[in-house]
Amino acid sequence: MALANKDSKILIVGGGGTIGSSTALHLARRGYTDIRLLDVFQNPSANSAGNDNNKIAGDDSAGIWGQLGTEAWKMWRTDPVFKDHSHNVGRLDLTSKEIREGRLRARYEGIVAEGRGDGVEWLDTKEAIVAKAPHLEKADLTGWKGLFVKNGGWVAAREALNSVGHELRRLGVKSAFGTAGTFDSLIFDEGDGRTVRGVRASDGTEWLGDLVIMAAGAYSPALIDLEDQCESKAWVYAHIQLTPEEAVELKGIPTMYNHELGFYMEPQPGTGVIKFCNEFGGLTNLTRIKPFGSSTEQLISVPRYHALNPTDTIPTEYVLEIQRLIEHCLPHLKGRELQNMAMCWCTDTKDMNWLMCQHPKFDRLVLATGDSGQTFKMFPVVGKQVADLIEGKLPEERKHLWQWRPQADDNGTGRGGERPKDLSEVEGWRHDPVVGEEPTSVLGAE
Ligand code: FAD
Repeated sequence: MALANKDSKILIVGGGGTIGSSTALHLARRGYTDIRLLDVFQNPSANSAGNDNNKIAGDDSAGIWGQLGTEAWKMWRTDPVFKDHSHNVGRLDLTSKEIREGRLRARYEGIVAEGRGDGVEWLDTKEAIVAKAPHLEKADLTGWKGLFVKNGGWVAAREALNSVGHELRRLGVKSAFGTAGTFDSLIFDEGDGRTVRGVRASDGTEWLGDLVIMAAGAYSPALIDLEDQCESKAWVYAHIQLTPEEAVELKGIPTMYNHELGFYMEPQPGTGVIKFCNEFGGLTNLTRIKPFGSSTEQLISVPRYHALNPTDTIPTEYVLEIQRLIEHCLPHLKGRELQNMAMCWCTDTKDMNWLMCQHPKFDRLVLATGDSGQTFKMFPVVGKQVADLIEGKLPEERKHLWQWRPQADDNGTGRGGERPKDLSEVEGWRHDPVVGEEPTSVLGAE
Protein backbone atom coordinates (compact mmCIF):
# COMPACT_ATOMS: atom_id res chain seq x y z
CA MET A 1 0.00 0.00 0.00
CA ALA A 2 1.29 3.45 -0.89
CA LEU A 3 2.20 5.66 2.09
CA ALA A 4 1.77 8.91 0.17
CA ASN A 5 0.44 10.36 -3.05
CA LYS A 6 1.93 12.99 -5.34
CA ASP A 7 0.26 15.84 -3.42
CA SER A 8 1.24 14.63 0.05
CA LYS A 9 3.32 16.95 2.21
CA ILE A 10 6.61 15.11 2.72
CA LEU A 11 9.23 16.14 5.29
CA ILE A 12 12.75 14.71 4.98
CA VAL A 13 14.84 15.00 8.15
CA GLY A 14 18.50 14.96 7.05
CA GLY A 15 17.51 16.24 3.60
CA GLY A 16 20.88 17.98 3.17
CA GLY A 17 22.73 14.65 3.38
CA THR A 18 23.21 11.59 1.19
CA ILE A 19 20.13 9.39 1.64
CA GLY A 20 17.81 12.35 2.32
CA SER A 21 18.71 14.34 -0.78
CA SER A 22 18.71 11.23 -2.98
CA THR A 23 15.20 10.46 -1.71
CA ALA A 24 14.05 13.99 -2.47
CA LEU A 25 15.50 13.74 -5.98
CA HIS A 26 13.63 10.54 -6.79
CA LEU A 27 10.36 11.77 -5.31
CA ALA A 28 10.61 15.10 -7.14
CA ARG A 29 11.43 13.33 -10.42
CA ARG A 30 8.33 11.16 -9.90
CA GLY A 31 6.18 14.27 -9.65
CA TYR A 32 5.75 14.74 -5.88
CA THR A 33 4.91 18.41 -5.50
CA ASP A 34 5.33 19.19 -1.79
CA ILE A 35 8.68 18.03 -0.43
CA ARG A 36 10.59 19.87 2.30
CA LEU A 37 14.15 19.12 3.40
CA LEU A 38 14.93 19.69 7.07
CA ASP A 39 18.58 19.77 8.07
CA VAL A 40 21.06 21.48 10.34
CA PHE A 41 22.90 22.73 7.25
CA GLN A 42 21.99 23.66 3.71
CA ASN A 43 22.85 21.04 1.06
CA PRO A 44 25.63 19.93 0.82
CA SER A 45 25.29 19.67 4.59
CA ALA A 46 28.53 20.31 6.45
CA ASN A 47 27.56 17.45 8.80
CA SER A 48 27.02 14.95 6.01
CA ALA A 49 29.42 12.01 5.77
CA GLY A 50 29.22 12.66 2.03
CA ASN A 51 30.61 16.19 2.35
CA ASP A 52 34.09 15.05 1.39
CA ASN A 53 36.39 15.38 -1.63
CA ASN A 54 35.89 11.84 -2.87
CA LYS A 55 34.47 8.38 -2.20
CA ILE A 56 35.09 4.93 -3.65
CA ALA A 57 32.35 3.78 -6.01
CA GLY A 58 31.77 1.12 -8.62
CA ASP A 59 29.95 -1.94 -9.88
CA ASP A 60 31.68 -4.35 -7.52
CA SER A 61 29.21 -6.73 -5.85
CA ALA A 62 26.88 -9.67 -6.42
CA GLY A 63 23.27 -10.26 -5.38
CA ILE A 64 20.96 -7.39 -4.40
CA TRP A 65 23.92 -5.13 -3.66
CA GLY A 66 25.26 -6.07 -7.10
CA GLN A 67 22.00 -5.07 -8.79
CA LEU A 68 22.04 -1.78 -6.91
CA GLY A 69 25.76 -1.22 -7.62
CA THR A 70 25.30 -1.81 -11.35
CA GLU A 71 22.38 0.59 -11.51
CA ALA A 72 24.18 3.17 -9.38
CA TRP A 73 27.34 3.11 -11.48
CA LYS A 74 25.25 3.45 -14.65
CA MET A 75 23.61 6.54 -13.18
CA TRP A 76 26.98 7.89 -12.00
CA ARG A 77 28.15 7.66 -15.62
CA THR A 78 25.05 8.80 -17.51
CA ASP A 79 22.59 10.82 -15.40
CA PRO A 80 23.07 14.55 -16.03
CA VAL A 81 23.00 15.31 -12.29
CA PHE A 82 25.77 12.81 -11.49
CA LYS A 83 27.85 12.15 -14.55
CA ASP A 84 30.32 15.01 -14.25
CA HIS A 85 31.26 13.81 -10.79
CA SER A 86 32.33 10.21 -11.46
CA HIS A 87 35.80 9.01 -12.50
CA ASN A 88 36.05 5.58 -14.12
CA VAL A 89 39.69 4.88 -13.26
CA GLY A 90 38.98 1.34 -11.98
CA ARG A 91 39.34 0.15 -8.42
CA LEU A 92 41.46 -2.35 -6.55
CA ASP A 93 40.04 -4.22 -3.57
CA LEU A 94 42.98 -6.06 -2.04
CA THR A 95 44.01 -7.93 1.09
CA SER A 96 46.78 -10.03 2.52
CA LYS A 97 44.58 -11.84 5.05
CA GLU A 98 43.00 -15.23 4.35
CA ILE A 99 39.54 -14.51 5.80
CA ARG A 100 39.13 -11.36 3.78
CA GLU A 101 40.52 -13.11 0.70
CA GLY A 102 37.79 -15.75 1.06
CA ARG A 103 35.10 -13.04 1.16
CA LEU A 104 36.59 -11.25 -1.86
CA ARG A 105 36.93 -14.49 -3.80
CA ALA A 106 33.27 -15.36 -3.06
CA ARG A 107 32.26 -11.91 -4.25
CA TYR A 108 34.32 -12.32 -7.43
CA GLU A 109 32.79 -15.74 -8.13
CA GLY A 110 29.31 -14.37 -7.45
CA ILE A 111 29.82 -11.61 -10.01
CA VAL A 112 31.17 -14.09 -12.58
CA ALA A 113 28.24 -16.47 -11.94
CA GLU A 114 25.84 -13.61 -12.69
CA GLY A 115 27.43 -13.27 -16.15
CA ARG A 116 29.22 -10.01 -15.33
CA GLY A 117 32.72 -11.48 -15.28
CA ASP A 118 33.97 -9.10 -17.94
CA GLY A 119 33.76 -6.29 -15.36
CA VAL A 120 36.13 -7.87 -12.81
CA GLU A 121 39.50 -9.57 -12.67
CA TRP A 122 41.02 -11.69 -9.92
CA LEU A 123 44.58 -10.56 -9.13
CA ASP A 124 46.82 -12.96 -7.26
CA THR A 125 50.38 -11.94 -8.01
CA LYS A 126 52.40 -8.77 -7.56
CA GLU A 127 52.81 -8.60 -11.35
CA ALA A 128 49.04 -8.73 -11.90
CA ILE A 129 48.49 -5.93 -9.36
CA VAL A 130 51.31 -3.74 -10.73
CA ALA A 131 49.96 -4.23 -14.26
CA LYS A 132 46.81 -2.43 -13.08
CA ALA A 133 48.55 0.03 -10.76
CA PRO A 134 52.14 0.72 -11.89
CA HIS A 135 52.53 3.23 -9.07
CA LEU A 136 52.70 0.23 -6.66
CA GLU A 137 55.81 -1.19 -8.34
CA LYS A 138 58.10 -0.39 -5.41
CA ALA A 139 55.59 -1.40 -2.72
CA ASP A 140 55.90 -4.65 -0.75
CA LEU A 141 52.87 -6.56 -2.03
CA THR A 142 53.76 -9.92 -0.47
CA GLY A 143 50.60 -12.00 -0.14
CA TRP A 144 48.34 -9.29 -1.62
CA LYS A 145 45.39 -10.63 -3.61
CA GLY A 146 42.01 -9.43 -4.64
CA LEU A 147 39.75 -7.82 -7.18
CA PHE A 148 40.13 -5.31 -9.93
CA VAL A 149 36.82 -3.66 -10.79
CA LYS A 150 36.75 -2.10 -14.25
CA ASN A 151 33.49 -0.21 -13.94
CA GLY A 152 34.33 1.93 -10.97
CA GLY A 153 36.83 4.25 -9.41
CA TRP A 154 35.78 7.26 -7.40
CA VAL A 155 33.21 10.03 -7.24
CA ALA A 156 33.60 13.67 -6.27
CA ALA A 157 31.27 13.44 -3.30
CA ARG A 158 30.78 17.05 -2.20
CA GLU A 159 30.32 18.16 -5.81
CA ALA A 160 27.72 15.45 -6.36
CA LEU A 161 25.79 16.44 -3.21
CA ASN A 162 25.92 20.03 -4.40
CA SER A 163 24.71 19.04 -7.87
CA VAL A 164 21.72 17.22 -6.37
CA GLY A 165 21.02 20.25 -4.15
CA HIS A 166 20.87 22.52 -7.22
CA GLU A 167 18.59 20.08 -9.00
CA LEU A 168 16.26 19.89 -5.99
CA ARG A 169 15.95 23.68 -5.89
CA ARG A 170 15.27 23.69 -9.64
CA LEU A 171 12.53 21.08 -9.15
CA GLY A 172 10.87 23.23 -6.47
CA VAL A 173 11.84 21.22 -3.39
CA LYS A 174 11.59 23.44 -0.29
CA SER A 175 13.93 23.46 2.66
CA ALA A 176 14.58 24.75 6.17
CA PHE A 177 18.02 24.78 7.76
CA GLY A 178 19.72 25.92 10.95
CA THR A 179 17.68 25.64 14.15
CA ALA A 180 14.44 25.79 12.13
CA GLY A 181 15.52 22.65 10.25
CA THR A 182 16.99 20.75 13.19
CA PHE A 183 14.80 17.88 14.39
CA ASP A 184 13.65 18.05 17.99
CA SER A 185 10.59 15.79 18.17
CA LEU A 186 7.65 14.35 16.29
CA ILE A 187 4.21 15.92 16.32
CA PHE A 188 1.27 13.50 16.63
CA ASP A 189 -2.44 13.64 16.02
CA GLU A 190 -3.84 15.16 19.17
CA GLY A 191 -3.64 12.73 22.09
CA ASP A 192 -2.86 9.81 19.83
CA GLY A 193 0.91 9.33 20.31
CA ARG A 194 1.06 7.18 17.20
CA THR A 195 0.01 9.00 14.02
CA VAL A 196 2.79 11.34 12.98
CA ARG A 197 1.62 14.76 11.79
CA GLY A 198 4.94 16.51 11.47
CA VAL A 199 8.20 17.57 13.03
CA ARG A 200 8.97 20.11 15.76
CA ALA A 201 12.30 21.83 15.11
CA SER A 202 14.73 22.84 17.82
CA ASP A 203 13.67 26.53 17.58
CA GLY A 204 10.04 25.45 18.13
CA THR A 205 8.92 25.74 14.50
CA GLU A 206 6.24 23.13 13.74
CA TRP A 207 6.43 21.59 10.28
CA LEU A 208 3.24 19.72 9.49
CA GLY A 209 3.31 16.89 6.98
CA ASP A 210 1.60 13.71 5.79
CA LEU A 211 4.79 11.64 5.89
CA VAL A 212 8.11 12.10 7.70
CA ILE A 213 11.26 10.42 6.39
CA MET A 214 14.06 10.11 8.94
CA ALA A 215 17.38 10.15 7.08
CA ALA A 216 19.58 11.83 9.67
CA GLY A 217 22.56 9.53 9.09
CA ALA A 218 24.76 9.02 12.14
CA TYR A 219 22.44 11.20 14.24
CA SER A 220 19.40 8.97 13.61
CA PRO A 221 19.80 6.70 16.67
CA ALA A 222 20.17 9.74 18.95
CA LEU A 223 17.00 11.33 17.54
CA ILE A 224 14.58 8.39 17.44
CA ASP A 225 14.70 5.22 19.51
CA LEU A 226 15.99 2.62 17.06
CA GLU A 227 16.20 -0.07 19.74
CA ASP A 228 19.92 -0.61 19.31
CA GLN A 229 19.72 -1.38 15.59
CA CYS A 230 22.25 1.27 14.57
CA GLU A 231 25.55 2.20 16.15
CA SER A 232 27.17 5.42 14.96
CA LYS A 233 30.91 5.47 14.48
CA ALA A 234 33.57 7.81 13.17
CA TRP A 235 36.13 7.04 10.53
CA VAL A 236 38.94 9.42 9.70
CA TYR A 237 40.85 10.99 6.85
CA ALA A 238 43.89 13.18 6.20
CA HIS A 239 45.10 15.09 3.15
CA ILE A 240 48.51 15.75 1.62
CA GLN A 241 49.07 18.66 -0.73
CA LEU A 242 51.05 17.41 -3.73
CA THR A 243 53.18 19.55 -6.02
CA PRO A 244 51.81 19.87 -9.58
CA GLU A 245 54.49 17.41 -10.79
CA GLU A 246 53.59 14.85 -8.10
CA ALA A 247 49.91 15.22 -8.93
CA VAL A 248 50.56 14.53 -12.62
CA GLU A 249 52.44 11.33 -11.71
CA LEU A 250 49.45 9.96 -9.80
CA LYS A 251 46.75 11.21 -12.17
CA GLY A 252 44.38 8.43 -13.28
CA ILE A 253 45.66 5.73 -10.88
CA PRO A 254 43.00 3.17 -9.95
CA THR A 255 41.40 3.65 -6.55
CA MET A 256 43.53 1.62 -4.13
CA TYR A 257 41.86 -0.16 -1.21
CA ASN A 258 43.69 -2.58 1.03
CA HIS A 259 41.61 -4.02 3.83
CA GLU A 260 44.43 -3.96 6.39
CA LEU A 261 46.06 -0.64 5.49
CA GLY A 262 43.38 1.66 4.10
CA PHE A 263 42.72 3.50 0.86
CA TYR A 264 43.40 6.46 -1.41
CA MET A 265 42.40 7.74 -4.82
CA GLU A 266 44.05 9.83 -7.50
CA PRO A 267 44.69 13.46 -6.46
CA GLN A 268 41.76 15.82 -6.68
CA PRO A 269 41.84 17.42 -10.14
CA GLY A 270 42.63 21.11 -9.91
CA THR A 271 44.02 21.17 -6.36
CA GLY A 272 46.47 18.25 -6.26
CA VAL A 273 45.17 17.23 -2.83
CA ILE A 274 45.28 13.50 -2.12
CA LYS A 275 43.12 11.95 0.62
CA PHE A 276 44.13 8.98 2.76
CA CYS A 277 41.97 6.83 5.06
CA ASN A 278 43.16 4.00 7.30
CA GLU A 279 40.87 1.01 7.79
CA PHE A 280 39.58 0.07 11.24
CA GLY A 281 36.34 -0.76 13.05
CA GLY A 282 35.24 2.83 13.71
CA LEU A 283 35.13 4.92 16.89
CA THR A 284 32.11 5.51 19.09
CA ASN A 285 31.25 8.54 21.22
CA LEU A 286 29.10 6.91 23.92
CA THR A 287 26.81 9.41 25.61
CA ARG A 288 23.78 9.13 27.94
CA ILE A 289 20.83 10.41 25.98
CA LYS A 290 17.07 9.85 25.68
CA PRO A 291 16.12 9.53 22.02
CA PHE A 292 12.56 10.42 21.05
CA GLY A 293 10.25 7.47 21.74
CA SER A 294 12.39 6.00 24.51
CA SER A 295 11.13 6.15 28.10
CA THR A 296 14.63 6.01 29.58
CA GLU A 297 18.11 7.32 28.91
CA GLN A 298 20.34 5.01 26.91
CA LEU A 299 24.07 4.83 26.26
CA ILE A 300 24.20 5.81 22.61
CA SER A 301 27.07 6.77 20.33
CA VAL A 302 26.37 10.37 19.32
CA PRO A 303 28.30 12.00 16.47
CA ARG A 304 30.74 14.75 17.34
CA TYR A 305 30.59 16.43 13.95
CA HIS A 306 33.70 18.17 12.64
CA ALA A 307 31.74 21.17 11.36
CA LEU A 308 30.59 21.85 14.93
CA ASN A 309 33.97 20.97 16.50
CA PRO A 310 36.37 22.35 13.92
CA THR A 311 39.47 22.10 16.12
CA ASP A 312 39.14 18.30 16.50
CA THR A 313 41.66 16.30 14.49
CA ILE A 314 42.10 12.51 14.64
CA PRO A 315 43.50 10.11 17.25
CA THR A 316 47.29 9.75 17.21
CA GLU A 317 47.09 6.01 16.55
CA TYR A 318 45.26 6.65 13.27
CA VAL A 319 47.76 9.35 12.26
CA LEU A 320 50.39 6.62 12.57
CA GLU A 321 48.28 4.17 10.56
CA ILE A 322 47.78 6.69 7.77
CA GLN A 323 51.53 7.32 7.76
CA ARG A 324 52.04 3.56 7.50
CA LEU A 325 49.71 3.36 4.49
CA ILE A 326 51.60 6.20 2.78
CA GLU A 327 55.01 4.72 3.56
CA HIS A 328 53.92 1.31 2.30
CA CYS A 329 52.29 2.38 -0.96
CA LEU A 330 53.74 5.80 -1.81
CA PRO A 331 57.12 5.87 -0.03
CA HIS A 332 58.20 9.03 -1.84
CA LEU A 333 55.53 10.89 0.16
CA LYS A 334 56.79 9.61 3.54
CA GLY A 335 57.09 12.36 6.15
CA ARG A 336 54.89 14.85 4.32
CA GLU A 337 52.65 17.05 6.43
CA LEU A 338 49.15 15.62 6.96
CA GLN A 339 46.51 18.34 6.68
CA ASN A 340 42.75 18.69 7.19
CA MET A 341 42.59 15.69 9.47
CA ALA A 342 38.99 15.03 10.46
CA MET A 343 36.52 12.47 11.76
CA CYS A 344 33.41 11.72 9.76
CA TRP A 345 30.35 9.87 11.08
CA CYS A 346 28.32 6.94 9.75
CA THR A 347 25.89 4.52 11.39
CA ASP A 348 26.31 0.74 11.21
CA THR A 349 23.59 -1.85 11.40
CA LYS A 350 24.73 -5.22 12.73
CA ASP A 351 24.47 -6.90 9.30
CA MET A 352 25.51 -3.80 7.30
CA ASN A 353 22.17 -3.67 5.46
CA TRP A 354 20.12 -0.47 5.47
CA LEU A 355 17.33 0.18 7.95
CA MET A 356 14.71 1.30 5.46
CA CYS A 357 11.15 0.66 6.57
CA GLN A 358 8.09 2.07 8.26
CA HIS A 359 8.58 2.64 11.96
CA PRO A 360 6.54 -0.08 13.72
CA LYS A 361 5.31 2.22 16.50
CA PHE A 362 4.73 5.49 14.65
CA ASP A 363 2.49 5.60 11.59
CA ARG A 364 3.62 7.88 8.75
CA LEU A 365 7.26 7.71 9.82
CA VAL A 366 9.71 6.09 7.40
CA LEU A 367 13.27 5.27 8.44
CA ALA A 368 16.00 5.60 5.81
CA THR A 369 19.30 5.08 7.58
CA GLY A 370 21.86 2.43 8.59
CA ASP A 371 24.28 3.49 5.85
CA SER A 372 26.97 1.21 7.38
CA GLY A 373 29.80 3.31 5.96
CA GLN A 374 29.22 2.28 2.36
CA THR A 375 26.31 4.25 1.02
CA PHE A 376 27.87 7.10 -0.91
CA LYS A 377 28.51 4.87 -3.91
CA MET A 378 24.74 4.24 -3.89
CA PHE A 379 23.90 7.96 -3.82
CA PRO A 380 22.11 7.92 -7.21
CA VAL A 381 19.91 4.93 -6.28
CA VAL A 382 19.43 4.83 -2.51
CA GLY A 383 16.58 7.36 -2.69
CA LYS A 384 14.90 5.28 -5.37
CA GLN A 385 14.54 2.47 -2.82
CA VAL A 386 12.93 4.87 -0.34
CA ALA A 387 10.60 6.19 -3.04
CA ASP A 388 9.67 2.58 -3.97
CA LEU A 389 9.00 1.80 -0.31
CA ILE A 390 6.70 4.83 -0.06
CA GLU A 391 4.86 3.81 -3.22
CA GLY A 392 4.48 0.19 -2.04
CA LYS A 393 6.71 -1.02 -4.90
CA LEU A 394 9.80 -2.19 -3.05
CA PRO A 395 10.41 -5.86 -3.93
CA GLU A 396 9.73 -8.26 -1.03
CA GLU A 397 13.34 -9.44 -0.90
CA ARG A 398 14.59 -5.88 -0.36
CA LYS A 399 11.84 -5.10 2.13
CA HIS A 400 12.90 -8.14 4.09
CA LEU A 401 16.60 -7.21 4.00
CA TRP A 402 16.01 -3.64 5.23
CA GLN A 403 13.13 -4.30 7.66
CA TRP A 404 12.88 -3.27 11.34
CA ARG A 405 14.90 -6.03 13.02
CA PRO A 406 15.96 -5.35 16.63
CA GLN A 407 16.50 -9.07 17.27
CA ALA A 408 18.77 -9.65 14.26
CA ASP A 409 22.48 -10.21 14.65
CA ASP A 410 25.38 -9.86 12.26
CA ASN A 411 24.18 -12.69 9.99
CA GLY A 412 27.68 -13.25 8.63
CA THR A 413 27.62 -9.97 6.73
CA GLY A 414 28.56 -7.67 9.64
CA ARG A 415 31.69 -5.58 9.95
CA GLY A 416 33.36 -8.15 12.24
CA GLY A 417 36.56 -7.43 14.13
CA GLU A 418 36.94 -6.18 17.67
CA ARG A 419 34.52 -3.91 19.52
CA PRO A 420 35.11 -0.35 18.37
CA LYS A 421 37.10 1.91 20.67
CA ASP A 422 35.40 4.94 22.17
CA LEU A 423 36.65 8.50 21.71
CA SER A 424 37.22 8.58 25.48
CA GLU A 425 39.82 5.80 25.09
CA VAL A 426 42.00 7.38 22.40
CA GLU A 427 44.20 10.45 22.43
CA GLY A 428 45.44 13.24 20.27
CA TRP A 429 42.19 14.29 18.57
CA ARG A 430 40.83 16.90 21.00
CA HIS A 431 42.07 20.47 20.65
CA ASP A 432 39.18 22.42 22.17
CA PRO A 433 39.87 26.13 22.29
CA VAL A 434 40.78 27.65 25.65
CA VAL A 435 37.65 28.80 27.52
CA GLY A 436 36.89 32.39 26.59
CA GLU A 437 38.19 31.90 23.08
CA GLU A 438 35.52 29.54 21.82
CA PRO A 439 34.53 30.11 18.21
CA THR A 440 30.96 31.29 17.72
CA SER A 441 28.57 28.45 16.88
CA VAL A 442 28.06 27.82 13.21
CA LEU A 443 24.50 26.73 13.98
CA GLY A 444 21.93 29.23 12.89
CA ALA A 445 24.29 30.72 10.32
CA GLU A 446 22.10 29.52 7.47
P1 FAD B 1 24.67 11.82 5.94
O1 FAD B 1 25.07 12.01 4.52
O2 FAD B 1 25.70 12.07 6.99
O3 FAD B 1 23.40 12.73 6.18
C1 FAD B 1 22.80 12.87 7.45
C2 FAD B 1 22.21 14.26 7.51
O4 FAD B 1 21.40 14.37 8.69
C3 FAD B 1 23.27 15.35 7.61
O5 FAD B 1 23.08 16.29 6.57
C4 FAD B 1 23.02 15.97 8.98
O6 FAD B 1 23.25 17.38 9.03
C5 FAD B 1 21.54 15.67 9.17
N1 FAD B 1 21.13 15.75 10.58
C6 FAD B 1 21.77 15.30 11.68
N2 FAD B 1 21.07 15.62 12.78
C7 FAD B 1 19.95 16.28 12.37
C8 FAD B 1 18.85 16.86 13.05
N3 FAD B 1 18.72 16.84 14.39
N4 FAD B 1 17.89 17.47 12.32
C9 FAD B 1 17.98 17.53 10.96
N5 FAD B 1 19.02 16.98 10.25
C10 FAD B 1 19.99 16.37 10.97
N6 FAD B 1 30.89 5.42 1.27
C11 FAD B 1 31.16 4.93 0.05
O7 FAD B 1 30.25 4.46 -0.64
N7 FAD B 1 32.43 4.94 -0.47
C12 FAD B 1 33.50 5.43 0.26
O8 FAD B 1 34.65 5.45 -0.19
C13 FAD B 1 33.24 5.95 1.54
N8 FAD B 1 34.26 6.46 2.26
C14 FAD B 1 34.00 7.00 3.48
C15 FAD B 1 35.07 7.56 4.19
C16 FAD B 1 34.85 8.11 5.44
C17 FAD B 1 36.00 8.71 6.21
C18 FAD B 1 33.52 8.12 5.97
C19 FAD B 1 33.23 8.70 7.32
C20 FAD B 1 32.47 7.58 5.26
C21 FAD B 1 32.69 7.01 4.00
N9 FAD B 1 31.65 6.44 3.25
C22 FAD B 1 31.90 5.93 2.02
C23 FAD B 1 30.29 6.33 3.80
C24 FAD B 1 29.30 7.35 3.25
O9 FAD B 1 29.85 8.63 3.32
C25 FAD B 1 28.02 7.25 4.08
O10 FAD B 1 27.57 5.90 4.06
C26 FAD B 1 26.88 8.14 3.61
O11 FAD B 1 27.35 9.41 3.23
C27 FAD B 1 25.84 8.26 4.74
O12 FAD B 1 24.68 8.88 4.24
P2 FAD B 1 23.48 9.31 5.21
O13 FAD B 1 22.50 10.01 4.37
O14 FAD B 1 23.04 8.16 6.01
O15 FAD B 1 24.14 10.34 6.23
